[in-house]
Amino acid sequence: MKTRPFNFSPGPSILPTSVLEQAAAALVSYPDAGGLSVAEISHRGPVFEGLHAELGTRVRTLLGVPETHEILFLQGGARGQFAQLALNWLKPEARAGYIDTGVWAEGAYQEATKVGDARVLASGAASGYTALPSLAELSGLDDLAYVHTTSNNTIYGTQWQTMPDFGGIPHISDMSSDIFSRPLDVSRLAMIYAGAQKNAGIAGLTLVIIEKAFMEAARADIPEIWQYRVQAKNDSMFNTPPTFAIYVTLLMCRWLDALGGLGAMQAINEDKASRVYGVIDGSSGFYTGVVDAADRSRMNLTFRLPTEALDKTFVSEAEAAGLMALKGHRKSGGIRASLYNAMPVAGAEALANFMRDFQARRG
Ligand SMILES: *Cc1c(COP(=O)(O)O)cnc(C)c1O
Repeated sequence: MKTRPFNFSPGPSILPTSVLEQAAAALVSYPDAGGLSVAEISHRGPVFEGLHAELGTRVRTLLGVPETHEILFLQGGARGQFAQLALNWLKPEARAGYIDTGVWAEGAYQEATKVGDARVLASGAASGYTALPSLAELSGLDDLAYVHTTSNNTIYGTQWQTMPDFGGIPHISDMSSDIFSRPLDVSRLAMIYAGAQKNAGIAGLTLVIIEKAFMEAARADIPEIWQYRVQAKNDSMFNTPPTFAIYVTLLMCRWLDALGGLGAMQAINEDKASRVYGVIDGSSGFYTGVVDAADRSRMNLTFRLPTEALDKTFVSEAEAAGLMALKGHRKSGGIRASLYNAMPVAGAEALANFMRDFQARRG
């Protein structure tokens, strides 16, 4: 494959070139399937079942998912989970707490209010979500069915440096934009979910990990398709799973394993992020970080130039130089560079060099 531009898109986002090449070949003809496409074989046949089982094993090993937790491969994206998790655990007499750290966290909360009694326990709204709210003085947790957080705030560029702890209250976290980016103690979470299209594959697959006892405590009087326990009982094949998206996530997991797992991935992600944050902090104010330094995301790096006109020039000149999709979200403006797992160090370095050069020319 000829040299590709570096893709800084927030999602759907960059995939390793080797994964794209393998996926492309398997989409046309998969040797184990007698030369049929990996996307045109039965999900009940031995070939796909083998791939599906391998994905389950690799996710369990990569993330260190204990046997107390079930791993599910679903559809509907993170937004589907906003609704499904509330349908399952926000029973008529129950109450749930949400930590509001921006658009996606708020979206999860709003969806829960349509189902039952959900409340915001802490919010970063006053800072325009440029800082994570303090959780030091949370109260009234005791009777909550669960607390919901968003581990990485894709739009603003904040990320919990260590995942918050709510004692014995079941903790559910939307990890759509930083799953697999760093090691995680899954045993402390009742549920994790992530749309695959940011850091784990292509759109169409939603990864869900749930503590089994918590899953069994969910409502059993909602439609079967929305019950996690029904999907678990059917090995995530209650209905036809997104087979090709599952195959791509398997390729991503093999790629992560070959790299050395999540500890190695974290070190690479730290290195990439520090190259870009280093330029921001060393720019004498030409570039300003959008969020508090203590809350900075390693996945989505947000910054601004001195004027909006310069932001625009930066984005278009970067694109001409092969650095794609750097425009910030319409809600926060400026620049957003997404440095997901698949972004090579060379991509972060190319961006850092471009930033230094741009400042030299335009600063
Ligand atoms: C992108 C994103 C979502 C929305 O994901 P969909 O799969 O499109 O529903 C939700 N939460 C976070 C943190 C995201 O980054």
